[in-house]
Parts: sequence; structure tokens; C-alpha cells
Amino acid sequence: MTQMLRGAKYLATETDTLKLTESEAEVTFVGRSNSGKSTLINALCEKKNMAHVSKVPGKTRTINVYEVKPYRWIVDLPGYGFAVGSKSGKAEFGPMIEAYLTSRNNLCMVFVILDVVAGPTKLDISMINWLRQHAYLFYIIVNKIDKFGASKLEVRKKEISGQLALAPADIFWISSKNKIQIEPLQKQIAKLLDV
Ligand code: GDP
Repeated sequence: MTQMLRGAKYLATETDTLKLTESEAEVTFVGRSNSGKSTLINALCEKKNMAHVSKVPGKTRTINVYEVKPYRWIVDLPGYGFAVGSKSGKAEFGPMIEAYLTSRNNLCMVFVILDVVAGPTKLDISMINWLRQHAYLFYIIVNKIDKFGASKLEVRKKEISGQLALAPADIFWISSKNKIQIEPLQKQIAKLLDV
């Protein structure tokens, strides 16, 4: 068994994506606030508190960088969707996310994290369509599957994959909280980052 992502450490917080230095390889997580991004990053890296887990939606409005190995990064982007504190009151995935996605030379995968109960929201769909239109490599992760029992989950899997025009097997179905199906994702990220 390799170290996988266990060596990850907090590296930096930034609001201006242009101030981020170069990595050799990085993967990023996007998703609506409260989808469980912070919980997932902690689970993947086998940490308790590395990524801040918030009870207040929309609170994390910075780009947070975790270094798995020198110059090999996991990048947590601001959550979109809840417009808490936004002037317009409008939900949008925002300039910081777009600026990040369009400026990173060594970005090798975008992971879009969805909440199994909410399913793909309008914003998730516009994010995914944007990634498709711009030919990004991306995976969908559906989190919080512990919220459904086995038979209801099967139905939900069909609904969500249908909405995304994907096969259920092409999606990661996980529970960050109960650590269900975390390992396949750890392996995928370790491979992408070559750690
Ligand atoms: P973020 O805003 O996307 O970073 O989300 P957080 O990681 O802060 O999680 C938001 C809320 O969802 C917290 O109350 C978490 O405990 C909860 N949560 C995260 N992952 C799971 C999961 O897999 N299952 C359940 N039931 N709750 C989760």
C-alpha cells in the first residue's frame, strides 16, 4: 500500500488565482456550498481537520491548496450556489472559479461534487456544460449516499446519471462522512498526481 494522499498538507489560501504559483500537477474540486467538499478532502487525505468543514453554506470563498507531495496539489475551489453575502443575491459559479479553471497549466482533472439528495442543480448543470464545452477532463462525484438505503439509492443513481447523460458506472458514488467508496477515488487521484 502506498502513502496515497496521506502526506497531504495545507499549503496556501488565495483569492487571486493569478497569485498561485505553478504546480507540476493538480486536481481540483468544485461544487455547490454544502455538497461536502471539505469533508471529502479530509476523507481522501485521511485527516480530521485539514480542510475546514463549515456548517454555514457559502462561507468558504477562497481557493485552498493542499500539497500531497511537492508541487502535486489538490485545490479546493469556493463553493457555488448559496449566495450568502453576495451583493447581487444571485447564484452564480463566479469569476474566481472561472479564472482558476482557465489559468492553470497543469490542471489534470476537475472533480464536480454533487449532493445525492439535491442531485444536479441548475448551477451544477451549467458548470458541467461549461466543462464539456471547453473540453476539460472531469469526473462527477455524488456525495452523501449514506442518506439513502440500498434500494432507494439504486433508483437515485439511475435518476442522477440519466440527468447527466452518463452511465452510473462513470460516476463516483461516495459518502465522505461514512467513508464509503473513498478508496477508488484516492487511487484515481494518486494516479493523476503521480504520487
Ligand atoms: P462544503 O461546503 O462543500 O465544503 O461542505 P462541508 O464539507 O462543510 O459539509 C457540509 C455539511 O454536509 C456538513 O454538515 C457535513 O457534515 C455534511 N456532509 C459532508 N459529507 C457528508 C456525507 O457524506 N454524508 C452526510 N450525511 N453528510 C455529509
